[in-house]
Amino acid sequence: MNYNVEVKLLAITPDSENLLERSGRICYASEDKLGTNQKWLQARIRQGHESLIEHASATFFIKASRALTHELVRHRIASYSQRSQRYVHETRAEYISPPELAKEVDPKNAKVFHDAMAASWQAYHTLLEAGVKPEIARYVLPNACTTEIICTWNFRQIRHIIKTRTDQAALPEFRVIADKIKDIMKGQAPKVFEDL
Ligand SMILES: Cc1cc2nc3c(=O)[nH]c(=O)nc-3n(C[C@H](O)[C@H](O)[C@H](O)COP(=O)(O)OP(=O)(O)OC[C@H]3O[C@@H](n4cnc5c(N)ncnc54)[C@H](O)[C@@H]3O)c2cc1C
Repeated sequence: MNYNVEVKLLAITPDSENLLERSGRICYASEDKLGTNQKWLQARIRQGHESLIEHASATFFIKASRALTHELVRHRIASYSQRSQRYVHETRAEYISPPELAKEVDPKNAKVFHDAMAASWQAYHTLLEAGVKPEIARYVLPNACTTEIICTWNFRQIRHIIKTRTDQAALPEFRVIADKIKDIMKGQAPKVFEDL
């Protein structure tokens, strides 16, 4: 699915797999076996001993729609910082165009969508010009409005987000974001994410 969204890894716990295995092995006084079993972390995850993977975290930059971030921030075990529509003027009409509303799929629906975007921003500019504060004028902006958010989650929460948001039942834009997060985490910490 071709959503024009971005996901970038900004930071991650260094040597995370080693830290997580060490954290888990303290429970069994088996630190001397550290690094001897490549499947050790996956075995703990399968057992449900998942609290040990909370010791590592990752921070992502995400550029997506406000519709997406409204759902994203429902994941509460997290820290978020999001571009403000109160303090930042959204003067450029920047929005996420769902591929479902692309011209190639249905030109009529595409026109309805793009006309609505143009009307929203037209109303926004008119209100700003009339002296209305951005925090009030923004009420006319659409769910599709592009936003930027920085998210920090521990590895357990990242697994939870990947599992729930790559599912067919999830919002298509969220599936795209979750797939990108999954690919990044499989590369960064395969011992924790290889089963997803
Ligand atoms: C397909 C789909 C459809 C959805 N539709 C809707 C909808 O129509 N309306 C709507 O409002 N929401 C909807 N949601 C959002 C959903 O209900 C959750 O709010 C969201 O997915 C966050 O996940 P979570 O509740 O697992 O908690 P997270 O905040 O991600 O927390 C992770 C885990 O920590 C634990 N946890 C966190 N907080 C608590 C707590 N207070 N008490 C006990 N345990 C806790 C739980 O085990 C939880 O699974 C939908 C989600 C999906 C994936």
